[in-house]
Amino acid sequence: MPDTVATFDLVRPDLRGRIVRLDGVLDEILNRHEYPASVAHLTAETVLLTALLSSMLKFEGIFALQAQGDGPVRMLVADMTSAGIIRACASFNAEDIQSTETAPFKLLGAGHLAFTVDQAGGGDRYQGIVELKGGSLTECVQHYFRQSEQIQTGIRLAAARFEAGWRGGAIMLQRVPGTVSENDEDPQESWQRTMILLQTCTDAELLDPQIPESELLFRLFHEEGIKLYNPSPLAHGCRCSPEKVESLLRAMDPREVDTLAQDGRIDMKCEFCGRTYDLLRNDIIAKGQKA
Ligand SMILES: [Zn+2]
Repeated sequence: MPDTVATFDLVRPDLRGRIVRLDGVLDEILNRHEYPASVAHLTAETVLLTALLSSMLKFEGIFALQAQGDGPVRMLVADMTSAGIIRACASFNAEDIQSTETAPFKLLGAGHLAFTVDQAGGGDRYQGIVELKGGSLTECVQHYFRQSEQIQTGIRLAAARFEAGWRGGAIMLQRVPGTVSENDEDPQESWQRTMILLQTCTDAELLDPQIPESELLFRLFHEEGIKLYNPSPLAHGCRCSPEKVESLLRAMDPREVDTLAQDGRIDMKCEFCGRTYDLLRNDIIAKGQKA
């Protein structure tokens, strides 16, 4: 199954959708981290939602989705560039996770989910925030669009680990405000019908590499009429570099830098890709003073 995201329209003018299928990309991200099953599931959901929502990226830049809570899973973050390069990581307290049997979403506790759009080259920045409420990150996203953007949104999402590795799939439908359907049908009624059709999509269908996107959408919405646009490829990749790690350290208080140093060296690990950076404490302090 190729890793892609694609936009589609239902023939009704007020309905727009996105479909994401992830195979090798999701597996590569999750294999990099040896997370417990519940954390891996939450991370997979964050990655799929990020790919769905990256349509919020209207210019060249980076879209990020970040959940922060007071539970055993303190943070989940995924980001994606307009070129389709995606990465993700989680931070959590392993002991608390092993001793609990609650639903993965409850592991986040109370907190918020933030959507950030950063335009390349230090341009515009947009941030939206919604409380962590309901039964899943997916529900939080639906709630955000309804509350903050007045856009009715429905999402079906699934991720699972197979023998060959992790696979994920997700479909999002949105009712674009301000557009009126040409037929006489009540828009609210037809929205509800479309939502019922979306919910009939099974996890098995979303995750089956033998069912291409076009067929999956046809199965669900053939009565509504679908126009599927060319898919964009997605790839896994990290943007960390020695320069970025150095500038992060140089921006810190020298006393804080000293707390990270051992025998004059600082070991920094990128939480996204696991790459380690070995830096000299004196270099950082000297460069920091020059800057
Ligand atoms: Zn990295």
